Amino acid sequence: IKIENLEKVYKTEEIETTALNGINLHVKEGEFVSIMGPSGCGKSTLLNVMGLLDKPESGSYKFIDTELLKLNDKERSNFRKRNMGFVFQNFNLIDELTVFENIELPLIYNKVPATERKRLVNEIIERMNIVNRSGHFPQQLSGGQQQRVAVARALVTKPKLVLADEPTGNLDSSHGNEVMELLCELNETGTTIVMVTHSSHDASFSNRIINLKDGHVISEKINKNRTEEL
Ligand code: ADP
Ligand code: ADP
Repeated sequence: IKIENLEKVYKTEEIETTALNGINLHVKEGEFVSIMGPSGCGKSTLLNVMGLLDKPESGSYKFIDTELLKLNDKERSNFRKRNMGFVFQNFNLIDELTVFENIELPLIYNKVPATERKRLVNEIIERMNIVNRSGHFPQQLSGGQQQRVAVARALVTKPKLVLADEPTGNLDSSHGNEVMELLCELNETGTTIVMVTHSSHDASFSNRIINLKDGHVISEKINKNRTEEL
């Protein structure tokens, strides 16, 4: 990923807020990057732009050879569905759907045939250790289990990039560690991960920590413990 000079301004009637003020960020294939910084520094906005959920005013965002900011709406949504997975702080599971159906949803969006969907969902359910929860609804699960379902849903399409926004924010430390270990395993199979976090413990699982302030990158730190392997 090559992000250059990204700018994002929110305009409301009275005020303009520059959320991203010239962000430059390169992420290697297979890297696990944490984004940290004080509240309001632009972390969520950056993740939303990277996830093609929000459009910046200017700048460049290249993913391998594709300039993503030049895609039209249809191309952007297809690119997102095929290449990206999302994990949110509040899990964002659909309460009316079972665990199986929640995980199946991105495959339906990608028009994967039913038999193939069943195979892929069962495979990931096994990997995430939630087999006996397949027919349960989200409210019947603990927070840690819900987040495992959310991670499974993000992974079932085998995305190249996973974007995680405070993935352990609503979990106690033992469930939080489980989720971080899942993200690490996923990363070890080659998936690139960009994670926003307030937790330096969570960030210690990543290869590199980027610090934002006032909408731009102020510093970065390579995590030597994890990066030897890369
Ligand atoms: P964090 O990422 O630190 O959990 P939030 O993203 O919830 O924090 O919010 C950061 C700041 O952005 C807060 O000051 C919040 O009020 C503001 N904010 C977030 N979303 C919006 C929005 N949709 N409209 C206006 N302000 C927002
Ligand atoms: P962080 O995730 O680091 O807390 P955000 O990306 O949520 O920061 O916010 C960056 C800045 O943009 C903040 O000043 C916030 O208030 C502002 N902001 C975020 N979303 C909106 C929005 N939808 N409308 C207006 N201002 C926003």
